[in-house]
Amino acid sequence: MPKEKQLGLSDKEKEKLLDILEKEGREKWYKRWKEHMAIPSNLDVLSKDKDEREKILRYLLLRVLINQQARFDKVREISIRISEEFTDILLSEPFKISESELFKVFKDVAGESRMFVNWMIFLFNEIWKQKVSKMEETLMIVDGHVGKVFCRTGLLEEVLYEERRPYIIQASKMRLWIEEIISRFGKIPFYVDNGAFYLFEDGYCRELKPNCKDCPLNKICKKYLKWTAYQIWEK
Ligand code: SF4
Repeated sequence: MPKEKQLGLSDKEKEKLLDILEKEGREKWYKRWKEHMAIPSNLDVLSKDKDEREKILRYLLLRVLINQQARFDKVREISIRISEEFTDILLSEPFKISESELFKVFKDVAGESRMFVNWMIFLFNEIWKQKVSKMEETLMIVDGHVGKVFCRTGLLEEVLYEERRPYIIQASKMRLWIEEIISRFGKIPFYVDNGAFYLFEDGYCRELKPNCKDCPLNKICKKYLKWTAYQIWEK
């Protein structure tokens, strides 16, 4: 797979840039989380009732399982793992399985269900105020647009890209490197991931005509604009 080295940011710049991403990601997520989770009107996500909360978790799980990104083999892996872990209790007395036990299984086999793990941690910690896990234990999802921000800014010193379509990046193949950076600087993965994604969603780090002038990262970013998520860059 082709790769290219580039001049990265200094550690100080990386930290500053990650601070901005984390802050943006947190603030914007707090405004949009109900919309992003697509919580239906018949469920009360702010309820203190345990049954209602369980319904919400089941609903979100259903969303993840029927999501086109949840590949069949991953759904199979999760089902088998849950069944093996909890055996008879699962079928006869599922209410005896604690949230933290269930959460652990999902986290271990996260894969495409990383979003579900992040939603669970967020709801438990920030909304329901139950400390099942820390926000620092959320996971980086790293779709193409998030990976693109890491490559364009210079957070990454090496970039993997497609052989047949230079310079479309191979975001998921760089996820480990990205996770290492987040962990090294002690940032919250979920919020950094959101912050980077919102740069695309809010019209800054677009594929072909990015709006660097108004972007919150403008002063630090290296602007390696040829890196794209899905489209070939044209000058
Ligand atoms: S400054 Fe430009 S290239 Fe850098 S993240 Fe912002 S929009 Fe993307």
